Amino acid sequence: MNQQNVLNQNETCPVCGEYQTVEFVSIVNASEFPELRAKVLDGELNQFFCRKCESVLPNPQTWFYLDNTLSIYAIVVPPDSICNSNFYAQWNPELDRQVQLITGPYELHTNYRLCFGLEDLVRYVTFRVGYYTFRKDVRRYYLDCRVPEDFLQKNKFAKRKRLKSLFCLVSFFPAGQVLTLNECIYLVNCHLTHFNNPNILQKEAGQKERILLIEELVALGLLDKVMDKVLFQVNQEWYPLKNEAGDN
Ligand SMILES: [Zn+2]
Repeated sequence: MNQQNVLNQNETCPVCGEYQTVEFVSIVNASEFPELRAKVLDGELNQFFCRKCESVLPNPQTWFYLDNTLSIYAIVVPPDSICNSNFYAQWNPELDRQVQLITGPYELHTNYRLCFGLEDLVRYVTFRVGYYTFRKDVRRYYLDCRVPEDFLQKNKFAKRKRLKSLFCLVSFFPAGQVLTLNECIYLVNCHLTHFNNPNILQKEAGQKERILLIEELVALGLLDKVMDKVLFQVNQEWYPLKNEAGDN
């Protein structure tokens, strides 16, 4: 591993109080070190594992995940930033949003993805792997995906098939990314294209229809709006269920 990015930090376990040294990789270059990609997918990288009480806690710092093979450049921020209004204030879509977070050689990178914690990154990497290698895996995800019951209940007057389509569509969006409407349309475009989703109507093709689709996602609670004209993705209420979708 590239030692210059590995930091050994002394931290106290917030659960049991054990003082220990924790390894933290501030810049993860997964195309150069594929074993790091595997660690990320196993949920093992940059998490706090307590040696004594075995608590697993999210890392409280921001780190970077680069993966040229999969065209990924992600900024991984602490998961609880998602509830922090000050965090959003740093991200002005009209300005260069990275200024606040990135310095050094990656400063000028513009095509990044913001991920809220390791789980969100794992989902995004999994998706990119599927997208780049076996598109059928993406379709498979759609077929296997379990839609949370309370989401269906809250929207019981809508068609179930439709709800599932939209839930799956949104579940591929990186959680918590702050987007302008145009960025959101672009994202929906990308996902509808490779999703080849049979239940999202083909006529939802134009700009106007995409805006309506986004409004529908907001109305169903799948996307949240924060600040004027900025969409904030993936309702956290449904979000924890994503891991139950795999494996069967
Ligand atoms: Zn502990």
